[in-house]
Amino acid sequence: MTRDLKVPLQALRSEHRYRSRRILEGPQQPEQRIDGRSVLAFCSNDYLGLANHPQVIQALRRGADTYGVGAGAAHLVNGHTRAHHALEDELAAFTGRDRALLFSTGYMANLGVAQALLRRGDRLFEDRLNHASLIDAAMISGARLSRYRHADAGDLARRLGRTVRLDDDRDTLISTDAVFSMDGNLAPLETLASLADTHGCWLMADDAHGIGVLGQQGAGTLEYLGLTQAQVPILMGTLGKALGTSGAFVAGPDDLIETLIQSARTYIYTTAMPAAVAEATRASLHIVQQEPERRRHLRALVEHFRDGVGQLGLELMESTTPIQPIVVGASEKALQWSDALLQQGLLVPAIRPPTVPQGRARLRVTLSATHSRAQVDRLLQALAGLVGTA
Ligand code: PMP
Repeated sequence: MTRDLKVPLQALRSEHRYRSRRILEGPQQPEQRIDGRSVLAFCSNDYLGLANHPQVIQALRRGADTYGVGAGAAHLVNGHTRAHHALEDELAAFTGRDRALLFSTGYMANLGVAQALLRRGDRLFEDRLNHASLIDAAMISGARLSRYRHADAGDLARRLGRTVRLDDDRDTLISTDAVFSMDGNLAPLETLASLADTHGCWLMADDAHGIGVLGQQGAGTLEYLGLTQAQVPILMGTLGKALGTSGAFVAGPDDLIETLIQSARTYIYTTAMPAAVAEATRASLHIVQQEPERRRHLRALVEHFRDGVGQLGLELMESTTPIQPIVVGASEKALQWSDALLQQGLLVPAIRPPTVPQGRARLRVTLSATHSRAQVDRLLQALAGLVGTA
């Protein structure tokens, strides 16, 4: 006997938690055609507008001409090309770390780190609002998971004090999103680094949403906060967001990278990303470093948006990043607002539980350096209309 899958699906529908996909007909950019209609989108993670940049596209073509399309094998077999190797060196230099290692996705990178470092009975401390891939990493690792209150270093300190002994033979990892993907705020990494030091733990930052966006050079949250490899030894960054391509990397000390190569199963047993994607990422990394004006424009848009939303009396989160959620409360209201915006040609997704806590459903607005101020004003005007009718 198996259960009737229609029943839980129907329950999701009636609880307004059913997720559906839309079909995008062209590149990732503010003005898009999706489900056959033209919209102005505020939901992409392409924060710098590099996913559709001519130089990045050209590098992808060049890479395909040189290496073909598929990598054809895992890195440890014969899928590791000169392009992958060069990108790893460039990512290490960019983030100021000994070495970097490419993974095919951020999800796999997070699973790989926890599984390679931790054994059954070891300990893993995670922020309650960490990305799903970090939570799943705990299950794969077999470590004992303890989830501390969101961005609450005091709660983590109490938990560490209760369980971690410097003289036992258990390893401990603290892992956190650097920028929280559904809230846009930063982890208290400086305090976490000193706790990790005091209690003899590894510390890992998942900077999927900070790389390319934060810091003078765009090297991410750690650059922005002035934190070194010695303080935060394990850095994970994704390439599918501000860098506009696909895949991820882990950067850190030589021993860490060598351990991942030798034992991270999501590194060893999977096909390498296409070399052409590595070439495209090298081009986008160059633009990230050479064109800080993209970050400047983005910062100005964030400030402008926050001013406007504040004037409407809507609830924003403590975020200075391009992730600018507007908390509306009930799932149903978030869906209604998202639908009403879509009627006006604005694409802003409703994010509901279980992705966010109960009663904290939101419109997750993300801004990009390719948005204009006028486009942000269009969104603000539409929001003003919704406030008027609420
Ligand atoms: N970590 C965070 C914080 C993320 O937001 C994401 C992507 N949504 C990932 C990891 C996973 O990265 P990828 O999409 O490359 O698998």
